[in-house]
Amino acid sequence: MNEQETTLECFAESGSSPEVIDKVIRPNMHLVDGMHRVHPHCDAFVHACACSIIRQFKPNLLLVHPANIDEYRHETGMFSAKVTHGLHEIDLWLGEILKAIRDAGIKQDTDLFIVSDHGQLNITRSIALNALLADKGLLTVDDQGQVTDYVAIAKSTGMSAQIYVKNPRDLDRVRAVLEQMKEDGLYGFERVFTAEEARREEGLYGDFSFVVETDGYTSFSNAFTRPFVRRVDNSDYKFGRATHGYHPDKGPQPTLMACGPHIKAGVRLDRRSVIDEAPTYARILGVEMPEAEGKAIEEILALE
Ligand SMILES: [Zn+2]
Repeated sequence: MNEQETTLECFAESGSSPEVIDKVIRPNMHLVDGMHRVHPHCDAFVHACACSIIRQFKPNLLLVHPANIDEYRHETGMFSAKVTHGLHEIDLWLGEILKAIRDAGIKQDTDLFIVSDHGQLNITRSIALNALLADKGLLTVDDQGQVTDYVAIAKSTGMSAQIYVKNPRDLDRVRAVLEQMKEDGLYGFERVFTAEEARREEGLYGDFSFVVETDGYTSFSNAFTRPFVRRVDNSDYKFGRATHGYHPDKGPQPTLMACGPHIKAGVRLDRRSVIDEAPTYARILGVEMPEAEGKAIEEILALE
């Protein structure tokens, strides 16, 4: 969104129809107009829009993404009074959604899933991987701190980073540097994945050559200049008090709670993959997802 663009124009350009803008967006705009801090105002707005959509359109599938708790954790750490406050906000908004479902007369047909895509871990420091790569002669930076050339460059994903090697002939050399950095134990690496390992073991793939994974308390920044180690601050979500982007085996696991006419009551599951969620919704809706890698979570379903 450019600075001159209004919020309404932004919704229109992002695909909201004139009908949705009139019936859903405009009536709830007062919740976000003139608000400087994004959360929780945008979340209150999103939930109010969800309620308007439920009442007026009775959708077959509606996905709502509150991010207030994510923001509060970045800002204050995994567990704090503010994070608990965020749960009360969610409770309030969820109550409003349930009321909208009743008002729309679709309660007997509606299943509700509460899911999350990731947790967070507290961090104590952020490592400037690119400044280290520059120090090791793998990246060059000019006087203004701009990159002029690179053999390898890091792109942070929070508590891991993806390393791009420009020329395949340098792969072994870069790998040796990264493995040595892991062995040195100073830089917050628990493991260096090759692209092939990341794809095979975790289903993570892209144009990168390596992924470096956190030791559990270090995040990685994209900074090209010293200092190598920075204390946490809230200037960027990648190095607030807590963040995400680490291996999914670490930390508290994401949530899945479900209830409704197509869900068996009282079933408890062991760990499942987040990629099983969409096939589960599809199964309830009677939609085929032949390309999906995940499988519907049949144990919780009560379908004829
Ligand atoms: Zn986040």
